[in-house]
Amino acid sequence: AKDEGKNNYRIYDSSLNPDAEERLEIKNSLRHAVDRNELTVHYQPQIEVGSGRILGLEALIRWNHPKRGLLMPGSFIAIAEETGLIVPIGEWVLRTVCSQSKRWQEAGLPPVRVAVNLSARQFAQNQLSPLVQDILTETGLDPAHLELEITESMAMQDRNWNTLAELKQLNITISIDDFGTHYSSLSYLKHLPVNKIKIDRSFVNGIAQEPKDEAIIMAMLLVAHRLNLTILAEGVETYDQFSFLHRNQCDEIQGYLFYKPQSAEQIEHILRQHSPE
Ligand code: C2E
Ligand code: CA
Ligand code: CA
Ligand code: CA
Repeated sequence: AKDEGKNNYRIYDSSLNPDAEERLEIKNSLRHAVDRNELTVHYQPQIEVGSGRILGLEALIRWNHPKRGLLMPGSFIAIAEETGLIVPIGEWVLRTVCSQSKRWQEAGLPPVRVAVNLSARQFAQNQLSPLVQDILTETGLDPAHLELEITESMAMQDRNWNTLAELKQLNITISIDDFGTHYSSLSYLKHLPVNKIKIDRSFVNGIAQEPKDEAIIMAMLLVAHRLNLTILAEGVETYDQFSFLHRNQCDEIQGYLFYKPQSAEQIEHILRQHSPE
């Protein structure tokens, strides 16, 4: 594959596909990662298309591995899911994000909503909404500033609907991540207490290249707006993609064209420059 050169712009990254030995090592050291304070959260701004304002941030976990350096979720989230470690890790992320967000507000930074990714395992725990409520109380964060991202497959399972309804009652925002990537029926959008959908990067990639992707995005925008849902496009990397989304009235965008995910310190700096007029 090496001599395909320039056409092959996605470079192979062994961290995305750890071998058996690496997996075992990751599994063992992940058990201690929370206690040893090795996990950290980066944040990626979400921009309002019309105004360019930062409305929100997505919290994305990173692991400061003692030997391997900064690891991306692709190299350990699947292992965390398999082992169930995602449950304590997910709780740690939620608590970290809520107290960080509260501190930013106390420091007088412009208010933003922070979105946290939930895994299916966390939903299966059954005690999710009391946990979220406890963390909100403990940190003093206004629920209007918290968003939870779930996947379509989590949203479609009827055994999750009670939990979803309970979460919604806490007055937080709920969004559907990676929208359109699974075999799914749109009918769940009619029943579920969801506020927002996130168009997956795989569709955004096709803008200005693949008319079928553009058609699908336009259909998603239409459905979302008719159902009064906010719609965000993720993975926006080019000006052409941005301009298509702007023309077609997408509400929010997130992607490298504007900001990459970055540390809490860097985000604080960005938010400071960003104070409302
Ligand atoms: P996701 O929720 O779909 O998050 C978006 C991913 O796209 C992030 O990768 C982000 O860095 C990346 N991204 C953002 N903008 C662009 C862009 O313009 N171009 C490209 N190529 N990529 C972009 P990341 O941080 O590596 O996270 C990967 C996945 O790991 C996430 O996908 C999410 O499913 C999972 N994840 C991350 N943090 C958590 C967490 O705290 N809990 C759980 N359960 N899962 C998490
Ligand atoms: Ca997400
Ligand atoms: Ca996503
Ligand atoms: Ca994804």
